[in-house]
Amino acid sequence: MKKESILYVVIPCYNEEEVLEETTRQLKIKMEKLIKDKKISPKSKVMYVNDGSKDKTWEIIKEIHKKEPLFTGVTLSRNRGHQNALLGGLMTAKNYADVIISMDADLQDDINAIDGMLEKYYDGCDIVYGVRSARKKDTFFKRVTAEGFYKFMSALGVDCVYNHADYRLTSKRVLEEFSNFKEVNLFLRGMFPLVGFKSDVVYYERNERFAGESKYPLKKMLNFAWDGITSFSVKPLRLIASFGVFTILVSLGLLIYSIVMLILGQAFTGTKFLAISIWFLGGVQLVGLGVVGEYVGKIYSETKARPRYIISENLEEK
Ligand code: UDP
Ligand code: MG
Repeated sequence: MKKESILYVVIPCYNEEEVLEETTRQLKIKMEKLIKDKKISPKSKVMYVNDGSKDKTWEIIKEIHKKEPLFTGVTLSRNRGHQNALLGGLMTAKNYADVIISMDADLQDDINAIDGMLEKYYDGCDIVYGVRSARKKDTFFKRVTAEGFYKFMSALGVDCVYNHADYRLTSKRVLEEFSNFKEVNLFLRGMFPLVGFKSDVVYYERNERFAGESKYPLKKMLNFAWDGITSFSVKPLRLIASFGVFTILVSLGLLIYSIVMLILGQAFTGTKFLAISIWFLGGVQLVGLGVVGEYVGKIYSETKARPRYIISENLEEK
């Protein structure tokens, strides 16, 4: 990690005209201080990514860029959603920077955590995850749903950093490797742990949005969570097969029960026969679906074509 690396802060913005001015003011102070303290190179910048906003966001970004050399921007041809906009920004910024930090436009993520992230980066970490230490300022509903989501994800076997959103530092080489992940359904916070390399976490307290409204209403949040689960786990497919096996076992149980009752002198009625058949056939069908699901799961991971390994050091090249 070379001293005074070039830092790019990448910020996706969708209809954020209300917050851009204040965000720029605070980030300017922060960036200037970091440059003065020789923690980052004077070539460092903040890069706004306009995600096809319908308001004046892009005009404001262009204005800021004209006045402040520390700020730059790119704009997408249309709205593609937070994750795509962020990826677009990261992939653009990696061409100019040594190290990149991503965060939201509303500064809900404490910008003072940047110092801690950089420190860990200079200590040799390639990824530093910003983790919310407390959610005191989130509504009860947001807190419960969000934390429940992280727990559910880890129960499904997804390697996700608890309470980490998209506030993170990544080095250039992580992003170079990341560009080999070709999948279209993005769930960035789950994908970065797959890249590997040395990583660490920095804790911070999450603030309230100081202006404007959340661009993540419940519907988008649920969609995002569903995307996260279905992009990372084949467990839901396996559950079908397990449920089928359970159903077959129930039918066998009923059969044994009926035979015992028959021996004890009770008639083997048509109703019993029907009940057992229904459970048995239902179970067989579910197992069948589960087997098909297993193949679908394989196709699904093949089509993602994720890199199978990433070499972090090669002594031949030293
Ligand atoms: N965002 C975006 N495209 C979208 C929706 C959101 O680029 O389609 C950006 C938004 O401008 C903000 C970040 O994603 O910088 C996070 O959105 P928000 O703060 O509304 O989400 P919350 O913090 O409420 O989860
Ligand atoms: Mg926010």
